[in-house]
Amino acid sequence: MRPELLKAQHVTKYFPLKGGRGEVHAVDDVSFGLQKGETLGVVGESGCGKSTLARVLLRLIEPTSGSIYLDGVDLSKLTPRNLRAKRREMQIVFQDAYASLDSRQKIGNIIAEPLVVHRIGNRKTRRDKVAELLHMVGLEPDAVTRYPHEFSGGQRQRIGIARAISLEPKLVVADEPVSALDVSIQSQVLNLLVDLRKQLDLSYIFISHDLAVVEHICDTIAVMYLGEIVEMTDGDTLFARPKHPYTQALMSAIPRPDPKRRGKPRIVLQGDIPNPENPPQGCRFHTRCPKVMRQCKNQKPEQHLFEESGTPHLVRCHLYN
Ligand code: SF4
Repeated sequence: MRPELLKAQHVTKYFPLKGGRGEVHAVDDVSFGLQKGETLGVVGESGCGKSTLARVLLRLIEPTSGSIYLDGVDLSKLTPRNLRAKRREMQIVFQDAYASLDSRQKIGNIIAEPLVVHRIGNRKTRRDKVAELLHMVGLEPDAVTRYPHEFSGGQRQRIGIARAISLEPKLVVADEPVSALDVSIQSQVLNLLVDLRKQLDLSYIFISHDLAVVEHICDTIAVMYLGEIVEMTDGDTLFARPKHPYTQALMSAIPRPDPKRRGKPRIVLQGDIPNPENPPQGCRFHTRCPKVMRQCKNQKPEQHLFEESGTPHLVRCHLYN
């Protein structure tokens, strides 16, 4: 087994509401480990807390409680200066590449910016590094003198990826990196991420609302609902034997053109995801769960850990008591 790169222990993030009217429970008691060179997919509907989790893991947002270790170092204990240095090792790729790139800057300057901020190299070495990064992400060398608006959505995401890997990080958090792209372009960007992972021995946290997108890129998948991880196991096990009713519903919604791969009939969840300011009592999914039982409404389910042919499979549901 490869060494662990990232460890999250009981990570929680509540946002206080104005006027002391309560708190938004964005992330609640999330724990997992990520091994070096692996990809963890975090999946759930919008509003489930996955993007907040991404930012908390990088300490772009302070957690309310819990610990995050990167290579054994507790990020919550680092001084601002030491945290800045540690940031070299963990970078983020955003969903909206256009918004994350300064439209007044040329691409060469955008990609070189992290190197300048961290005082790495001189003008010449930075220029060489930018050329190398453009090549790695499949862009032409003349991109350096052009501006973000001159590129397509897929190309802009490649620029965002080049900037994220410029500091040779150990961990890249990709927050919905392909959801704004056409389906044909999505697979090109996903393939690029897979190639870079091998080439640079990267680890990814891959955030997505779409289970079909994470299916081919992630080793382990965590399914989130209203701030909590409700199921987590390796990708093959999750797709073969999803246990949580929410995962089963997400999975049933994946379009499968191949009739042999079509699973059970579609499970349509009723209603919207509840307001995280006031999450339901008991199981948070009980207001929409097709298998809800009486105890689900007032008793919070524990996490159950199964072992399936040596693979840990974690599920939070009373059906497995
Ligand atoms: Fe459904 Fe109850 Fe399981 Fe929650 S605990 S997912 S409501 S069966």
